[in-house]
Amino acid sequence: MEFGQKLRQAIERLRAGTIDQQTVKEAVKELQRALIAADVDVALVLDLSKKLEARAFEELPKGLNRREHVLKVTYDLLSGLLGGGTHPLGAPEKPKRILMVGLFGQGKTTTAGKLAKWYGKHGLKVGLICADVARPAAFDQLKQLSERMGVPFYGDREEKRAEKIVEAGLQKLGGKAVDLVIVDSAGRNGLDEELTQEIKHVHAVFKPEHTWLVLGADLGQVAKKQAQAFHDSVGVNGVILTRMDGSAKGGGALAACALTQSPVYFIGTGEKADDLEEFEAERFLSKVMGYGDLRGLLEKIKDLDFDEEKAQNALEGEFNLQMFYDQLQATKAMGPLDKVMDMMGLKAQLPKEALEVSEKKMNSFKALMESMTPQEKQQPALMSHARLERVCKGAGKKIEEARELMAHYKKMKKMFKQFSKLGSKDMEQGNVQKLFAKMQAKKQRKKLRLR
Ligand code: GDP
Ligand code: MG
Repeated sequence: MEFGQKLRQAIERLRAGTIDQQTVKEAVKELQRALIAADVDVALVLDLSKKLEARAFEELPKGLNRREHVLKVTYDLLSGLLGGGTHPLGAPEKPKRILMVGLFGQGKTTTAGKLAKWYGKHGLKVGLICADVARPAAFDQLKQLSERMGVPFYGDREEKRAEKIVEAGLQKLGGKAVDLVIVDSAGRNGLDEELTQEIKHVHAVFKPEHTWLVLGADLGQVAKKQAQAFHDSVGVNGVILTRMDGSAKGGGALAACALTQSPVYFIGTGEKADDLEEFEAERFLSKVMGYGDLRGLLEKIKDLDFDEEKAQNALEGEFNLQMFYDQLQATKAMGPLDKVMDMMGLKAQLPKEALEVSEKKMNSFKALMESMTPQEKQQPALMSHARLERVCKGAGKKIEEARELMAHYKKMKKMFKQFSKLGSKDMEQGNVQKLFAKMQAKKQRKKLRLR
């Protein structure tokens, strides 16, 4: 998406260099250009700019630096434009009733078919109802799609009241035990009084949990007006953007999302049944804003709310990075690890790699772990590639070093699993000396027994 590329340029400004008033101003200007070029409503763009400038230099939330904070604020604002909250979750998993609304030719019928296929693939039994009484061809179009998709269909060529068709359709399909019913409604060239009444009646009978506005990506600023009109009459809570395969930028739809406070759930990328992609604001923005950075940052922010004590209780005894860190601290007070081990007569028992930690490496490991959140240290399994990248940036280390740390940690974990019966309490407290002493005592007892 061209929109994405432009947006990315703006974000680049925030990702590189120091963050001061000047940088933020320039980034805001580029953001404005990107958004306006993508047909986003000017009022929305100005509103976003104002908010970004105002919030960029507010007091830093605990645990974030200025750059992270500004990126997070930018993300939240853009995500708001896309109709999502802070962490949009993608399309509903098990919808029961979806009503497709939108003006003529936007792709309602095509998308109804695509959705039937998509949700079918996701394990739902889908049924389609044609409630388009304005165009005789609409019946055939949806019927054909249903047949191709192999899903139950209901329509009535003779009935002119759309809500009657829906009523009958619900009964018919109800007998076929479908999980999801999708109603395709009629469109006009403009949302006139007649269409408004018809949609309202259909909505009242169908009682959909989801009313999705279908918009062509090429609609531009008109999208806002349409969204407003449909929202006023039936309440829109999702947006589908079609014709994203064309040259259109799709920014117009952002206004529709912002106005109805609805997320874009899917985008249409062609005329065929498979040309439908689930849309996730987080994924989209992550890509736009620099994937690793944003994913890592969002994860870090989630972690800031993390309850340390609870996690500690849940993980009793499991060797984690926090313990590894504590050990490195403790070992340092005593001297290099291999010397300590040697002193205790344990050197031979440990895997060679566990001992090959030079002073330099130890410091590198420590720096990396200091860039981790408490949760990451407690639950090393969380360390995804994005997280490792973030940690490396924070610690000024290379990704190879982070990988080495994780590999080393895993070896240690394995090793300590074998010893854990000896003294998990001591290990939790990072009391290596005590643990080693116990290990030695056990070893001596063993020797005695052997004799
Ligand atoms: P409706 O009047 O809202 O029901 O619109 P239709 O579903 O009949 O679609 C109108 C035209 O747009 C048809 O020719 C579709 O094949 C086409 N169309 C729908 N979605 C897409 C899309 O995502 N990409 C492209 N290229 N064409 C689409
Ligand atoms: Mg149609």
